[in-house]
Amino acid sequence: TTVGVVKEPSPGESRVSLIPEQVSRLKTSGLDVVVESAAGHGAHIADEEYTAAGAAVVAVDELYERADIITRVSALSAADAKRLRDGQLLAGLLEPLRYLDIMRELAANNITTASLDMLPRTLSRAQSMDVLSSQANIAGYKAAVLAADNYGRYFPMLTTAAGTSPPANALILGTGVAGLSAIGTARRLGAVVTAYDVRPESRAEVESLGARFLELETTVAASGTGGYARALTEDERAAQQRELSTRIGKFDVVITTAKVPGKTPPLLVTREALAGMRPGSVVVDLAASDLGGNVAGSEPESTIDIDGVRVIGAGNLPSVMASAASAAYSRNMFAFLSHLIDEGSVAIDLDDEINAGVIITHNRSFVNKIVADAEA
Ligand code: NAD
Repeated sequence: TTVGVVKEPSPGESRVSLIPEQVSRLKTSGLDVVVESAAGHGAHIADEEYTAAGAAVVAVDELYERADIITRVSALSAADAKRLRDGQLLAGLLEPLRYLDIMRELAANNITTASLDMLPRTLSRAQSMDVLSSQANIAGYKAAVLAADNYGRYFPMLTTAAGTSPPANALILGTGVAGLSAIGTARRLGAVVTAYDVRPESRAEVESLGARFLELETTVAASGTGGYARALTEDERAAQQRELSTRIGKFDVVITTAKVPGKTPPLLVTREALAGMRPGSVVVDLAASDLGGNVAGSEPESTIDIDGVRVIGAGNLPSVMASAASAAYSRNMFAFLSHLIDEGSVAIDLDDEINAGVIITHNRSFVNKIVADAEA
C-alpha cells in the first residue's frame, strides 16, 4: 500500500498533510510513501527531508498514478477530483456538505473518501485524530497574538519610570477549542480576560483558565448535540445582541469564535456595539466567512476600520502557522491512517463509529448518514 502526500494546490494553503516524522513511522509500519515535489515548502520542509524519511519525491502525475491512499489538508476542487482513479482512498478536510457535487462525482468514480472534519469528536479514542481541535487551537492562539499586534497599547499592566499602563481588557466570545486557546494566550500576554458562551458547561473551563465568565441576564442555555451549541431562536438572538452591545464598550479587545455546525455564524458584535468601543480597540472575528461572521461588517482575510475600531476578519490562521499546524495535522492523519490500515492494507469497517462518521463515499455510494441525508 502506498500513501501519497499532495502539495496543496490552493494558493492560500501552506500546510502539508504529513511531515517527515510521520512518513518514517508509516514506512516502519510497512507502507510506501510518495510525496509531491515541494509539498512541504509552505511549512519549511525540504524535499530532501522527505527523502531522508524514506519517501520518494515525485511529480504530481506520478503521485496520482502510484498512490493507493492520497492525503491532503483542504477540500479539493473539481479539477483535483478528476485526477483520482477507481479504488483510491482520499483523506483530508473535504467539507462534504459544502462540496456535495464533488463528493457525488468521487462516489461515481469509486473513490473512497475520508473527511476528518466529520470525525465524532466526543469519542475519546478519536481524540488523537481530531484535526478540527488541533487546528482550532492554533487559530485561537494566533487570533490573540494578532489582536496584541494590532492593539496600540500594552496587553500586560506595566509600571515604568514613564508611568503605569493598565492591562488590556479582553473579551472572548465563544469558548470552544479556539476560544479557550485565545483565552490562554491573551492571559499569558497579560490581558485581563472575560469570556462568554451559550453552553453553560463552558463556564468551568473558562474559570479554570483564570478568566471571568460574563453573566448575561438574557442568557439561555443553548447546548446542542455532540458538545456543540444549538442555533438561538430569533428572539434569543436579538436579546443576546442587545445585551452584549451594552457590555462590549468596556473592552479594548474582542475575539469572537462562535459557530454552530451547519449554520451561518451568529452575529454577536453589532454595528452599535462597535460604535460603543473606544477608538483604537481591536476586534478579531475568527468566524468571518463569505456568509458573514460574528462581527457586523467583518470581511475574511482583511482588516478594516469601523468607527476607529480595527476589525480583523481572520482567514485561514492555521495556514499562517503552517509549521505548527502541519506537525499537528500530520500526527492526527497518522493516527487516522493507523486506525484504518490493518496489516498493511486498508480495511474499512463501517460498523466502527469513527469510520461511520469519517468515511463519506465507499463502493460507489454515500455511506455517511448525514451526507446521505443531505443528498436525498
Ligand atoms: P465550534 O467551533 O462549533 O463553536 C465555537 C463555540 O461557539 C462553541 O463553544 C459554541 O458553544 C459557541 N457558540 C455558538 N453560538 C454561540 C452564541 N450565539 N453565543 C456565544 N457562543 C456561541 O465549537 P468547537 O470548538 O469545535 O467545539 C465545540 C465543543 O465540542 C466544545 O464543547 C468542545 O469541548 C467539544 N469538543 C469535545 C471534544 C472531546 O470530547 N474529545 C473534542 C473536541 C471538541
